[in-house]
Amino acid sequence: MNKSDKIFVAGHRGMVGSALIRRLESEGFSNLLVRDRSKLDLRDERAVTKFFAEQQPAVVILAAAKVGGIKANNDFPVEFLLENLRIQNNVIHWAYESRVRKLLFLGSSCIYPKFAPQPIPETALLSGPLEPTNEAYAIAKIAGIKLCQAYAREYGANFISAMPTNLYGPNDNFDLETSHVLAALLRKAHEAKTRKDRKLIVWGSGKPRREFLHVDDLASACLLLLEKYDSPEIINVGCGEDISIRELTELICDVVGFDGELIWDATKPDGTPRKLLDVTKLRALGWKQSIPLRDGIGRTYEWFLANYAR
Ligand code: GDP
Repeated sequence: MNKSDKIFVAGHRGMVGSALIRRLESEGFSNLLVRDRSKLDLRDERAVTKFFAEQQPAVVILAAAKVGGIKANNDFPVEFLLENLRIQNNVIHWAYESRVRKLLFLGSSCIYPKFAPQPIPETALLSGPLEPTNEAYAIAKIAGIKLCQAYAREYGANFISAMPTNLYGPNDNFDLETSHVLAALLRKAHEAKTRKDRKLIVWGSGKPRREFLHVDDLASACLLLLEKYDSPEIINVGCGEDISIRELTELICDVVGFDGELIWDATKPDGTPRKLLDVTKLRALGWKQSIPLRDGIGRTYEWFLANYAR
């Protein structure tokens, strides 16, 4: 990529998109194209058609999506399926029509079967049934991968797909109903400490294992893929280590300074038992994580205090 390439970052206000913008700017990319949702609704095909015809970006990073934690995914399958299909169909198709040189589609580790081998290799895609709590979102993301691969195979497009593990960091969603676990627990532990509660309620059994990657590390991996990876085969992005939800909760409480008792709410779903990505392919390109989990949680807590807790 050239520093003056026009790069459209779809979803620039989200956690992933905003991290991409920070990274691209710090690397000297000076021609970034963004649009607020109020100016460009990516679900609206006519608006997307017009936007691509007028702007003609050279590179597209598709980080716009309807996302949410286990409860939101489970409660709103229609929205997660339909909105994501609409956004990605429009952006991928019109990127092709306007001759975008390269497109990076961001998927998710939930595309893999519920009982995939661990760590999960890219070849596990479509080898078994999905986890029911996020099946709608996963199906949409799988359709996005397949659409990118179809454009590559049928028309020679350089459309690549990265599968990030569970992410966290600045601009995460801290709404307790719709957020993912790390942001939810940071907020819950902070509020429990502030109120001087002696108890903290955590969803599920604490036994599921998840892998967590700071979004700034994801952004650095995405830049590397844009520079060096030109295959339609999907590629995992993770740190290669997982942790149980119980251990994560204890770590968060330690960072925040909450020392009360943990109560496990068995009425809430655990979701998939384990989600650890095999990152052999990414490591072979020379990438590795730079933000250890404890530091990343500390940085995210600082961001939360400065931006959200107010
Ligand atoms: P998942 O990776 O798709 O399952 O998404 P989440 O990040 O929402 O949840 C991961 C795990 O954390 C699940 O086992 C949840 O039950 C558990 N968990 C514990 N407490 C919470 C919470 O307050 N919010 C969320 N979203 N998950 C929680």
